[in-house]
Amino acid sequence: MAQIFGPVPSRRLGFSLGVDVVPFKTCSLDCIYCQLGRTTNKTIQRKEHVASGSVLREIEEVLRQGKRIDYVTFSGSGEPTLNSEIRKMISRIKKLTSIPVAILTNGTLLYQARVREDLMEADLVIPSLDTVTGGIFETVNRPHPSLKIEEVIAGIDTFSQDFGGKVWLEIVLVKGINDSPEEIERVARVTGKMNLERIQLNTVVRPPAEEFAGPLSREDLENMKTVLGEKCEIIAEFERPTQRAQEVDVEKRILSMVKRRPLRLVDISRSLGLHRNEIIKYLEALEKKHEIRTKVHNNQVYYH
Ligand code: SF4
Repeated sequence: MAQIFGPVPSRRLGFSLGVDVVPFKTCSLDCIYCQLGRTTNKTIQRKEHVASGSVLREIEEVLRQGKRIDYVTFSGSGEPTLNSEIRKMISRIKKLTSIPVAILTNGTLLYQARVREDLMEADLVIPSLDTVTGGIFETVNRPHPSLKIEEVIAGIDTFSQDFGGKVWLEIVLVKGINDSPEEIERVARVTGKMNLERIQLNTVVRPPAEEFAGPLSREDLENMKTVLGEKCEIIAEFERPTQRAQEVDVEKRILSMVKRRPLRLVDISRSLGLHRNEIIKYLEALEKKHEIRTKVHNNQVYYH
């Protein structure tokens, strides 16, 4: 499985089968808080970065295994709308299964009508918008030079009005950078005009690309939530029962998960349906072989 990972526990989507349709790390942004590290291929060029046929074959195989999957989620090593075949892939998945399809996108390409049309068959689209101010956009998201915040906002707005499924907007706040009361007021005015089902406030919770990208406290987030209105929620920590492990090659599965994003022991344990103590043995073995490393962030250990 080169392009499919999980199901991994997701704070919002339950057990999410990740579909990775761009090579690591291909993105139109280079966010200072990115859990994947710095962007190595900053681009807005859409192409079949990863062959859609092989992605679909892998999805078919995982679906046949009958695992618990709450969402099939386009996410992973960068920005999924950069894959020009995303429309075809969504459409084929919808024919294969009734499991809903979610797209995690940075929303920067939604100013293009073609990109908006490509996502129309999805069930849930989660674009992000961390700021509405050009200078802050440059600081926090370090965009491709051709991207302008006004166009990004207009693209997300138009998509939210035209799309028949659900749109949840994610806002990631970084301490001292995009969290001033004035900026949050401006964001609230802009998002108030969009057709959103939810606004999800997030902060830096996994080891970020830049060490200076710090998290807000729960109390800070609660204050921002009040300004952003009743659709706004703070994304809570994931709490779900474990699912049964159905594969024996645990080390390979752990590597496949943690190479895409850092995970805690508890995340790996829940995803594989194995007891933490058992997972610890595999993690220790992988560390000894120098195949994984740990990072401490907010007093929590992440494996990557
Ligand atoms: S957080 Fe998302 S949008 Fe930002 S650089 Fe990372 S992959 Fe790209």
